[in-house]
Amino acid sequence: TPTALMVGTGRGAELGILIRNGDVPEQAAHLKAVGIDKTGTLTTGMPEVQAIIPFETTEEELLAIASGAEGKSEHPLARAVVGYAEKRGITSATTEKFVSESGRGVQVTDEKGRVILVGNRDYLSLHGVIIPEELDKKADELTTTGVTMIYVARHGIPFGAIGIADILRDSAHAAVLALHSMDLEVVMVTGDSARTAEGIGAQAGIHTIRSGVLPQEKADEVRSIRHEQGGTVAFVGDGINDAPALAEADIGIAVGSGTDIAIESADIVLMKNDLRYVAAAIQLSRTMMGRVKLNLFWAFAYNAILIPVAAGILYPFFGIIFRPELGALAMALSSVTIVSLSLLLRNYTPPVLRSDKTDSH
Ligand code: ADP
Ligand code: MG
Repeated sequence: TPTALMVGTGRGAELGILIRNGDVPEQAAHLKAVGIDKTGTLTTGMPEVQAIIPFETTEEELLAIASGAEGKSEHPLARAVVGYAEKRGITSATTEKFVSESGRGVQVTDEKGRVILVGNRDYLSLHGVIIPEELDKKADELTTTGVTMIYVARHGIPFGAIGIADILRDSAHAAVLALHSMDLEVVMVTGDSARTAEGIGAQAGIHTIRSGVLPQEKADEVRSIRHEQGGTVAFVGDGINDAPALAEADIGIAVGSGTDIAIESADIVLMKNDLRYVAAAIQLSRTMMGRVKLNLFWAFAYNAILIPVAAGILYPFFGIIFRPELGALAMALSSVTIVSLSLLLRNYTPPVLRSDKTDSH
């Protein structure tokens, strides 16, 4: 067991799959579902502003207010807004009293003490902002394509919405295909709205989606998936908002660009920014488990067959007896068999990565 695990872990490291927990192969053998975070995991996490929908104001004013509020946020969406406003040479509104509500949006006050809200639709509704139908209609058209819509309001008055597109990672579709072919249920778990999530899901080939999940609810979502699927659950994330889910999952998988907290909470860390390595990590872990079982089989097989022979079970019928020196040889052979089987793992390439060898990079 330790030999197979050690060689397998070493091979993983060579491939850029860091297995941090010896439990992983065992959990992988019973894996039924994989939960995947959307922003920063399925997508590149470097979103860009695609559309500006001012409501009874100008694009400039909308952007000045939005970037004034988002200036203090570290969320990728906030960075997109601030970057875009800068690019257009728009001066951000001066703001203070920054409050960030994780998975929802941000709140600040401007120099006149008016409250500015920037966040998803629910966040603004929660604060009593009524989104006009006209704005909703324009926003809805965009969200079906996977664009994330954030809304802006000042002093309870809606100022418009900003559509931000987060690009699907190139490898996402291939990764989902591979996971499905391994009979795993793939579930997107995101804090974003259902429409945006479905837009991204359609591009990635994911049909099961849990949207509107607040960061603190992501771990509950993992538990509920485990309960439904009746097996172990893996969760793939980048750690922004999903460290609890990574910790709760039987196999927490942190992707390369992930945060320190993701790496700390994960059982597997992927060094490459390629989601196919999620499937590769599971394939490797399962193969390691298979090898452990095969090793156990051979360890017992030699003994189960040869100990009775050595004890003379065949002697009365065939006159066969097992000489002690042959016993020693068998003992050695059993070890050699197991170590050899384990060492074969050194050349193992997970099937999902095999076609890659012809790739130029
Ligand atoms: P995910 O679960 O996909 O990683 P998050 O939980 O980070 O997404 O965010 C969920 C939603 O909350 C976002 O889609 C956005 O609508 C809203 N949101 C969160 N933070 C901000 C912010 N700083 N500015 C605007 N909207 C935000
Ligand atoms: Mg994320």
